[in-house]
Amino acid sequence: MLVDSFHRNHDYLRISITDKCNLRCLYCMPLDLPESFLATRSMMNVDEIISIAKVFVDLGVTKIRLTGGEPLVRKEVREIISRLSKFPIQLALTTNAVLVDEFIDLFVETGLRSVNVSLDSLDATTFEILSQRKHFSKVVDNIQLLLDRGFHVKLNMVVLKDVNHLEIPAFIKMTKNANLHVRFIEFMPFTGNGWDHQQVFSSEEILSLVEEHFEFEKLNDRPNDTARNFKVKNHTGTFAIISTMTDPFCDTCNRLRLTSDGKMKNCLFSKGEADILAALRNGEDLVPIIQQCVWQKKAARGGQMMGHLANISAETIENRSMISIGG
Ligand code: SAM
Ligand code: SF4
Repeated sequence: MLVDSFHRNHDYLRISITDKCNLRCLYCMPLDLPESFLATRSMMNVDEIISIAKVFVDLGVTKIRLTGGEPLVRKEVREIISRLSKFPIQLALTTNAVLVDEFIDLFVETGLRSVNVSLDSLDATTFEILSQRKHFSKVVDNIQLLLDRGFHVKLNMVVLKDVNHLEIPAFIKMTKNANLHVRFIEFMPFTGNGWDHQQVFSSEEILSLVEEHFEFEKLNDRPNDTARNFKVKNHTGTFAIISTMTDPFCDTCNRLRLTSDGKMKNCLFSKGEADILAALRNGEDLVPIIQQCVWQKKAARGGQMMGHLANISAETIENRSMISIGG
């Protein structure tokens, strides 16, 4: 078991398999990042990903989510999914869905049934402004494809005040007849993303906006949920709010992260990292290194961003960019 000093058990690992992406979402990728993508030799190769994942599974991890960057742009992603699917775990994926149609049969064959898709706007122009790429129709078609093929689909929307917040009701309308779970994520600060507290559309603001349009009920959240879940009366799907900035859910966090260069983070906002890949390459025992990293986990948000939102600045937080962590 991977238990920290606050008695939280960690059974969920997110593995970033690349820091590269086929979109350029403004809130995620710093403008100067394309020049600093990782060299192949500093990334975990496929065998290394599998060896490290096995140690985590032996230590009690029961769920692994692949993320990135965009996981589906990694050229060995088929092999990674196939090999991880042999472990006794629930395998899941977070993707921008641009390439989903090329991989959907593989997902079915390997039993990967849970896919989180990011979509920040239902308007093609806003999508293009936010992602700097013209893939709107492809993404929308691929979300429909996932639903048609019976996948469990969560749709992640990062809410940015005065950019897309007025689209929240339209996103909720999508849950009327589809078994779709829309999640509104408060905008978070990461190195280089130019975060400003005035761009955060808070959980409270989201709920008041939803109230103006729908009658909805609170659902019971599962023990390690990082979202508060709701359902509009007579809708098939649900909606949820991930309120990391205004009402974090750190008390029940069960998540650990591994970056594509093999560094373990015990929190999305942790300052410190454990170099698991270097240890593996040196032939060291990974178990005590992983256990110590878990033990050092801070009570909330990596011990950072403690004060009022207005006093937080993306530049003073010690962390990586989101694209190089893996959300
Ligand atoms: N490329 C994949 C995707 O977009 O789904 C996986 C990686 S992406 C970093 C994972 C998630 O992080 C996405 O849902 C994205 O919207 C979210 N994300 C990125 N930057 C964020 C930020 N600054 N605040 C909140 N969520 C963010
Ligand atoms: Fe790429 Fe996902 Fe980041 Fe957008 S949010 S730039 S799709 S990694």
